[in-house]
Amino acid sequence: MTTIKTDDFINSIADSLQYISYYHPVDFIQAMHRAYENEKSSAAKDAIGQILINSRMCAIGKRPICQDTGIVVVFVKLGMNCRFDSDKTIQELVNAGVELAYTHPDNPLRKSVLVDPAGERKNTGTNSPAVVHVEMVPGDSVEVKIAAKGGGSENKSKMAMLTPADSIVEWVTKTVPTMGAGWCPPGILGIGIGGTIDKAMCLAKESLMEPVDIHELQQRGPANRIEELRLEIFEAVNALGIGAQGLGGLTTVVDVKIMDYPTHAASLPVAMIPNCVANRHIHFTLDGSGPAQFDPPDLSNWPELSLDTGDSVRQVNLDGITKEEIASWKAGETLLLSGKILTGRDAAHRRIQQLLDEGQPLPDGVDFNGRFIYYVGPVDPVGDEVVGPAGPTTSTRMDKYSSMMLEQTGLYGMIGKAERGDGTIAEIKKHKAVYLMAVGGAAYLVSKAIKGSRTVAFADLGMEAIYEFEVKDMPVTVAVDSSGEAVHKTGPTFWQKEIQSLKG
Ligand code: SF4
Repeated sequence: MTTIKTDDFINSIADSLQYISYYHPVDFIQAMHRAYENEKSSAAKDAIGQILINSRMCAIGKRPICQDTGIVVVFVKLGMNCRFDSDKTIQELVNAGVELAYTHPDNPLRKSVLVDPAGERKNTGTNSPAVVHVEMVPGDSVEVKIAAKGGGSENKSKMAMLTPADSIVEWVTKTVPTMGAGWCPPGILGIGIGGTIDKAMCLAKESLMEPVDIHELQQRGPANRIEELRLEIFEAVNALGIGAQGLGGLTTVVDVKIMDYPTHAASLPVAMIPNCVANRHIHFTLDGSGPAQFDPPDLSNWPELSLDTGDSVRQVNLDGITKEEIASWKAGETLLLSGKILTGRDAAHRRIQQLLDEGQPLPDGVDFNGRFIYYVGPVDPVGDEVVGPAGPTTSTRMDKYSSMMLEQTGLYGMIGKAERGDGTIAEIKKHKAVYLMAVGGAAYLVSKAIKGSRTVAFADLGMEAIYEFEVKDMPVTVAVDSSGEAVHKTGPTFWQKEIQSLKG
């Protein structure tokens, strides 16, 4: 019988979470580098470039790849000849490791987990509890697969009860475009097939813990139906032309992973969970000889790229900006923003709406007139940082507030990630406003453009408070221009046709 020391287990959970917060898996970096080299869409190539630059910076600075440092998901395979020297449950031990990791003094991670999800939605302040799946297996060791899953990609999870005659490839191909770009592609699709619908979901999640190896599979050829399906789905999804960040391009997914399980004769349950560019997972095994060791990857695994600041990139001073100047920006254009912007996301918008509905003034210092709002919930700063990693959150969630913000507050523009709904695009056009997109998953890179930060209102909301940022050369793309042209519509349409013609 092997005895696993409680501290070894807790410290291994904590160390693994710190490690994956700033190191991408090497197989994923290599896949992203391949995608960068092959990309023909300049907007998508620029986005992948920013993701790779961000990834290298995080590996050097040991700071989070993304401001959303995720909800922790753990698959534990517990050998039946193994015991812990504790009467705590595995859930409690994992939670202790999560709390240790997320409050690390050198690299505190953002706490995003809330209790009472259908009610008060109160932050637990520790990022626990984790979601833990335990399975008893033969053996005398404990195998752990652990991930920190971002909310933006988790929110796009899908499932279906197909009939046995239905095509899984067809379902995936028609479903992926409905997910928009809020899952921060290019990423990985995890697909679970069979069992019952709950089992299919678990299989989809667990499949995302496997390394990227579709290129090896392409070279050696499929050995069974599941491998055939991986290749068919990989090809079909990339042919959609969605591309990096939904801007249109050649790579939407860098791999498709599938796990399956026997199912009922009448059923074909299928689940699909996307993983974003903040692809964070690692495996370790404990055999009673001490905590797991995590070796840092060699920096030579990352390409050395730099931001494009050439003549095609427009420098913009947001202080005193006019609607005439905004009207000259075209969809797809890259801007480098300087000046002051306000921040706000779900909770701040809810409060603004409540105040305006009650005829109350906005708090002192909150004046959106002629200003831009950045949808962000940053990580807390450490050392001499002005702000921790501060990438954009999914703008689609703020669509229901955009009419109010543009109509009633005098707001000129919004900065976030992913597409906007048709109603918001119509409002942008009506108000001659603009929507700019920053790259999701390039949070540390974006934070380096933030030179000043102060809390302006709703401090009790923590990361969801309204801050004023002073930015210098913050890279963004015009995603919806003042005429209502939207790159998330035009880009994928154009690149889907291009891919078809490239295939001849
Ligand atoms: S990369 Fe995008 S989806 Fe993933 S955690 Fe970051 S913001 Fe969320």
